[in-house]
Amino acid sequence: MTAVSPDRIEIGVAPALGEPLAVEFGNTRHTVRGDLREGLATTAMLAAWLRAHAGDFPGELAFSAARALGDGDLFRFVRLRDAVRALARALVNDAPPPAIPLATLNEAAATAPSWPRLSWAAVPLVQEVTAAPPPDAALSVIAASAVHVLGGPQRSALRACGGPGCVLFFVRRHPRRAWCSPGCGNRARVSRHYERHRAR
Ligand SMILES: [Zn+2]
Repeated sequence: MTAVSPDRIEIGVAPALGEPLAVEFGNTRHTVRGDLREGLATTAMLAAWLRAHAGDFPGELAFSAARALGDGDLFRFVRLRDAVRALARALVNDAPPPAIPLATLNEAAATAPSWPRLSWAAVPLVQEVTAAPPPDAALSVIAASAVHVLGGPQRSALRACGGPGCVLFFVRRHPRRAWCSPGCGNRARVSRHYERHRAR
């Protein structure tokens, strides 16, 4: 992994587009003005990302996972992130799935088996519980999201942004959406305009 100085890459720079959890996670690899950026360069950045997406994890899991991250966890999360990106790329390019990323994803999804428990204080509630350590459980939740995005009904709506230099993925929820963000749409229009003028 390329070493990137964390003060150059605020966690806020890793774009939050409101995509499914696995797509947001894949998008931690992003670009700023065409330069590739690592949104998970340090354990602290991974912890911040987990807290920023806490609403997509059951209960307090994102917070307990962020607190419990240890040596080696960053590597496992980045490996899953790269696997998700490789599989998403294969899907949008209609290419065969790369074997190692596929195995990495399925292994991560199986890291923390969970089951529903009926918790009944004021009202009965379903709680998804696991015996696994919180970082393992968080890794599994992200992997499960990726399995559903890549293999479920959303798979035909997964797109790679066509913005100049952009490497983000998004799920197209309405037929006219062509870019990850309005910013990428503007950059693409400016670049087409420039190309047309240069051609003359
Ligand atoms: Zn984009």
